[in-house]
Amino acid sequence: MFERLQEKLSKIFRSLSGRGKITEKNIEEAVKQVKISLLEADVNFKVVKEFVESVKAKALGEEVLRSLTPDQQFIKIIRDELISILGRHPSTLNLKHHPAIIMIVGLQGSGKTTTAAKLALYLKKNGRNPILVAADTYRPAAIDQLEKLGKSINIPVFTGDRKNPLKIVEEALSFAKNSQYNVVIMDTAGRLHIDDEMMEELEKIKNITNPDEILMVVDAMVGQDAVNSALEFDKRLNLTGFIVSKMDGDARGGVILSISYVTGKPVKFIGTGEKVDALEPFYAERIVSRILG
Ligand code: GDP
Repeated sequence: MFERLQEKLSKIFRSLSGRGKITEKNIEEAVKQVKISLLEADVNFKVVKEFVESVKAKALGEEVLRSLTPDQQFIKIIRDELISILGRHPSTLNLKHHPAIIMIVGLQGSGKTTTAAKLALYLKKNGRNPILVAADTYRPAAIDQLEKLGKSINIPVFTGDRKNPLKIVEEALSFAKNSQYNVVIMDTAGRLHIDDEMMEELEKIKNITNPDEILMVVDAMVGQDAVNSALEFDKRLNLTGFIVSKMDGDARGGVILSISYVTGKPVKFIGTGEKVDALEPFYAERIVSRILG
């Protein structure tokens, strides 16, 4: 874990520490290196700034200055800080109602529709009996896409009248209440950019359905922009968590740290491919080394 950063930090401490004496200056250099790693991983720059300040304050404490292995001590501080932001334990879904309701939201192209199907399959494999609801009436292909995905995993897709998303979710709920399905997963509309009309529609769907989980799908590749959209969605909908898609790409996952930090909400799953079984519960430990590089 952290081999590359560890190596760089050891070098800094060695070259600057003189006769084994650790000074404020080496800490300064080490912090700079951490900053670079985080920025390279596409962590939001404001988050990086606050994060390194808090790491620095901790590192300047007696413990590191006196430690015989300051580089390791320093790495431990960074690691602990990251894990405390990301959540020490994997965050599970909180499904209380019968049927339980999961609302999937996000910008268009984030992977929302695919993720709704992935989550349905995941829950089915874990003993649930889910039904999908196609309430994204804006992107014309979204409903067909969800139907196709549903068919491929043998999970029914409720489509309703295809035009009125509020009516669709209402009908889907009353259908599910009188059926054997115990989880309702709603795919909702996304736009390329957040707009008021979209948010109002999502708020209405939330009010009608009272979801157990409102999960925002965020594309790992979008980088710095993720923070603003996550904050806006959270402000309007009070999200219960995130699913970060496209973690199979080049992204080092800085988005995960940024959105967890600014919203305080957990990332619950990551998407790791286009296939419908490419969804994994999120483990902070696994992602930390990827972020630090
Ligand atoms: P929506 O507009 O948010 O509903 O997005 P879609 O579900 O249609 O996904 C947009 C594109 O991203 C599609 O080509 C998906 O196959 C792809 N996609 C979704 N999740 C992942 C993922 O975890 N990894 C990769 N590589 N592609 C993904």
